[in-house]
Amino acid sequence: MLIAEGDVSVRTPCIPRAINVAGVPVVPFESYEHALACIEATVAAREKTFWVAINPQKCFRAWHEGGLLDLLNRADVGICDGVGVSIAARILHGQGIKRCTGCDLFLRIVPHAAKKGWGVFLLGASPESNAEACAKLQEAYPDLRIVGHQDGYFKDSAQVVSHINSSGADLLFVAMGSPTQEYWIAEHREKINAPFCMGVGGSFDVVSGTIRRAPAIFRRTGTEWLFQLVTEPHKRFRRQTVYVPFMLRVLSKRLVGSVGASQWTTKPARQ
Ligand code: UDP
Repeated sequence: MLIAEGDVSVRTPCIPRAINVAGVPVVPFESYEHALACIEATVAAREKTFWVAINPQKCFRAWHEGGLLDLLNRADVGICDGVGVSIAARILHGQGIKRCTGCDLFLRIVPHAAKKGWGVFLLGASPESNAEACAKLQEAYPDLRIVGHQDGYFKDSAQVVSHINSSGADLLFVAMGSPTQEYWIAEHREKINAPFCMGVGGSFDVVSGTIRRAPAIFRRTGTEWLFQLVTEPHKRFRRQTVYVPFMLRVLSKRLVGSVGASQWTTKPARQ
């Protein structure tokens, strides 16, 4: 058990049932506002949840790494981070999933947290990027309560968990890259008191300006991968070679008719 017992879609009625994308559960939020409303409900209920951004790279790795597949099935909410996941859902079940990327959701949660007075803890990225992200967010949202922060190159996890808990954080964002951040959250979730935990990859680097985000036109059309491939070919090429085998596997599942139920009846690994 990673989080708590029971099916999150039963415990938290506003969270829609996840769609099965070749073995990985992905929640079909209608919009970012919908996801925010669910976060608000779970935080208000002090319900511990673990949110994971699902993209083709993570699915593909999970298909070859049992521990990661198990983790993604045990997490409370998988969001549709990658356009490939949305396309896969359409191929498999005739129903696409609206995108709700980790970075965009993070950038929407922060002002909401400022309004609600939620305490936020930022864990991850280099010391410089982490500090700069905190400073930029504080400047943009003066009411934001950043109750703690820590770079992602620490040795003593127990000490970090204790720091998070003593900060009284309501929201914990972990930006240590995937799937390192997901494994870290999963390993420590039970001990972390913050109701909301989510892995946000390179989002602190985006806020600090360490990396450049794809312009809006690429984000709107789901072609950030193209922008990244052109601007960071060395870093991105290997990651993006996954798209072809990812799609081939999805298509082969569709063709042989072994797509599984479109929706989980209960979250399988949460008993
Ligand atoms: N990182 C970290 N600790 C580590 C390894 C990486 O904090 O042990 C940080 C790194 O500094 C960067 C982020 O994790 O800020 C990785 O971002 P990337 O874009 O690679 O993540 P993705 O979005 O692909 O998961």
